[in-house]
Amino acid sequence: MSSESSVSVVIPVFEEEASLEPLIARCLAACRGMNRPFELLFVDDGSRDGSPEILRAAASEHPGEIVYVGLNRNYGQHAALLAGFEEARGDCIVTLDADLQNPPEEIPRLVEKLDEGFDVVGTIRKDREDSLFRRFSSRMINRMVRRVTGVQMHDYGCMLRGYSSGVIRAMLSCRERSTFIPVLANSFAARTTEIEVAHAARAAGESKYGFWKLVHLQYDLLTSMTTTPLRLLSIFGGLISALGIGFGIFLMVMRLAQGAAWAADGVFTLFAILFTFVGAQFIGLGLLGEYIGRIYHDVRARPRSFVQQVVRGDRDPDSAAATARPRLRPARLRISTTSERPSEDR
Ligand code: UDP
Ligand code: MG
Repeated sequence: MSSESSVSVVIPVFEEEASLEPLIARCLAACRGMNRPFELLFVDDGSRDGSPEILRAAASEHPGEIVYVGLNRNYGQHAALLAGFEEARGDCIVTLDADLQNPPEEIPRLVEKLDEGFDVVGTIRKDREDSLFRRFSSRMINRMVRRVTGVQMHDYGCMLRGYSSGVIRAMLSCRERSTFIPVLANSFAARTTEIEVAHAARAAGESKYGFWKLVHLQYDLLTSMTTTPLRLLSIFGGLISALGIGFGIFLMVMRLAQGAAWAADGVFTLFAILFTFVGAQFIGLGLLGEYIGRIYHDVRARPRSFVQQVVRGDRDPDSAAATARPRLRPARLRISTTSERPSEDR
């Protein structure tokens, strides 16, 4: 990407009136310092405080620099980000939290990395200013995501991130309703990197993620990444069934060796039969799960492949048609005709 690439900064806002004024001032200062076209998109996620008024006023005060996108109700941070992506027109897209935990002064560093040709720039929070519970659960979850996706990113929770417009287009073409943007973005990225960024305590108010909202978010992360838990049902069922059958054989042998009164007159035989059938039920559930997983893949309608670049060598380099046609085409989406699913789900 050239140094004139334009930048869109997308910021989801849910009841953050106390931090909006310093946020706007710092974002404007950071972006103006880059000397390139930029826009700040504030997506109001159904706030009931003064946030929408502040943002609308800022958009009319700074036309061309600030864009207000208002949602009718609260849809959640990731849905708000996607709504912002729909309106973003920049070549580089940076996302940021509105509570000033992510310093806006880091925006130029992310853009620099995108200029170097990375599709996704992740961040690692230096000296993270969050509760011990949040830091611990975050570490466990990041480890799990690394294992399942095979992408070596360390901090999926930090939303100060940068994306190329190609990856944004790919994400917008997905039809799923609940998603986890950093994981989805990585599935379309060819080159990813991570940089360390500063992290601050929340400027004002409280975290918008209570316990249940956090649990819900983790389910979004898991289901956006894999359908393996459905397969685990069959494996679990197979194990129980095998145990039941093994136990039955053991009882039969012991009965022949020790006589009919052994093992409480057949009470344990009932257990063996029960285990076998409970296991069989789980196998059945797992099979249903396999179908549901496939339906889920189809319903989300993610593009089957993401073409990063097409290079066409010209047969006759001197012909007018060949010189008129650009030799490198920007990233675009292609629906391939194979029935393969995205590799991250395998
Ligand atoms: N947010 C949002 N909708 C929600 C919850 C949060 O747009 O339903 C925004 C919020 O205003 C903030 C960002 O998402 O800009 C991150 O939220 P928060 O700081 O509460 O999360 P935490 O830092 O505790 O993970
Ligand atoms: Mg926060």
